[in-house]
Amino acid sequence: VNDTRPRHIDSRARRKLADPNNRINMVHFDPNYIIYDSTTDTTYLRGRLLGKGGFARCYELLDLNSNKIYAGKIIAKTRIAKPHQRQKIVREVELHRDLKHKHVVEFHSYFEDDENVYIVLENCPRKSLVHMLKQRKVLTEPEVRCHLKQLVEAVKYVHNQNIIHRDLKLGNMLLNDHMELKIADFGLATRIGYEGEKKMTVCGTPNYIAPEVLQKRGHSFEADVWALGCVTYALLLGRPPFETSTLKETYVRITSNNYSIPQTVSQGAKSFIQKCLRHDPDQRPTVEELLSDDFFTSGFMPKSLPSTCCTNAPKFP
Ligand code: ADP
Repeated sequence: VNDTRPRHIDSRARRKLADPNNRINMVHFDPNYIIYDSTTDTTYLRGRLLGKGGFARCYELLDLNSNKIYAGKIIAKTRIAKPHQRQKIVREVELHRDLKHKHVVEFHSYFEDDENVYIVLENCPRKSLVHMLKQRKVLTEPEVRCHLKQLVEAVKYVHNQNIIHRDLKLGNMLLNDHMELKIADFGLATRIGYEGEKKMTVCGTPNYIAPEVLQKRGHSFEADVWALGCVTYALLLGRPPFETSTLKETYVRITSNNYSIPQTVSQGAKSFIQKCLRHDPDQRPTVEELLSDDFFTSGFMPKSLPSTCCTNAPKFP
C-alpha cells in the first residue's frame, strides 16, 4: 500500500506557486492537495475537475518533478469494495496499460493509497465529443470525416491487439489541445483469446449496444463497428439512431434494425452508416475495410480542425 506522507512537498509546491517563470497556471492547483505515488516516488498536485464517470472522478494532476499535467482518474476505494468492482478496474488497467497509439489516450501509471485508486492518463483538456455536440447540436460532414478517420485508425490498432473496446461512444472520444481525437475508457473492453472466440456477456451496458450483444448470441469485433455507425449517425444528426423515450422500445428498434437516415445526409455518409449498422455482424465491414470506404476517400477531409470547432461550425473552402 502506498505511503501517503508528503515529502518536502509544501516547500516544493509553494516554490512552484511563487515562481513567475512557471508556465503552468498554478491557480488551478491546490498546494494542500497532494497525491503521492510511492511506487515511482512521484508527487502530484490535484487541479481542476475534468469530468465524472460511473466510478471515477477525473482531475488534472500536476507532476511536480516533470512539471507535466496529466489526467488522473481517482476512484474511491469505498466505491470498489466488492471484488467484481475491483476486478473491473484491474482489467481496465491490464488492457489499457500496453496500448500505444496516437489516437488512444496514453496510459501513464497506476497506483493506490489508503483512500483511492489512481489511473494517470494523458490529459485531453478539450473534453469529449459529447461536450462538443452539446454546443454545436450537429457537426458538418468534413468534421465528422476527420474525427471518424482518427477514430477508425485507433480502433484498427486496438483490434489488432486482439482487444474489443465495447463502449465506443461520444463521451469516450476525447480531444487534446491540438484537437486530436483519442479514445478512452477501457472499462468494458475485453481480450479475444483465440481466433473466432465469441464473448457471451458484457459486465455493464454499452451505450451503443449491438443486437448480438443485446441478444447474448455471442459477439466480437463487429460490435465495435456497430458502435462506429452509431457514433457517425449521432455526430451528423445530433441524436443516436435508435433513440426512443424508453429503453425497452429502443431495444426493440435495435433488434429489428428499425432506424432511418434523413435526406440531408450525403450518399457517402449514408452508405457508411448503413454498412456499420447491418443487423448480421458477419455482413459488417472490418475496421480495415472501413478505412478505404468512399466516405473517407471522396469528399473534403480537413487535415486538422481548429479549436473554434468546439463552439462554432467551421467554414471550409
Ligand atoms: P468511468 O470509467 O468511471 O466511467 P471515465 O473514464 O468515463 O470514467 O471518465 C470520466 C470523465 O472524465 C470523462 O467523461 C471525461 O470527461 C473525463 N476524462 C476521462 N479521461 C480523461 C482524460 N484523459 N483527459 C481529460 N478528461 C478525461
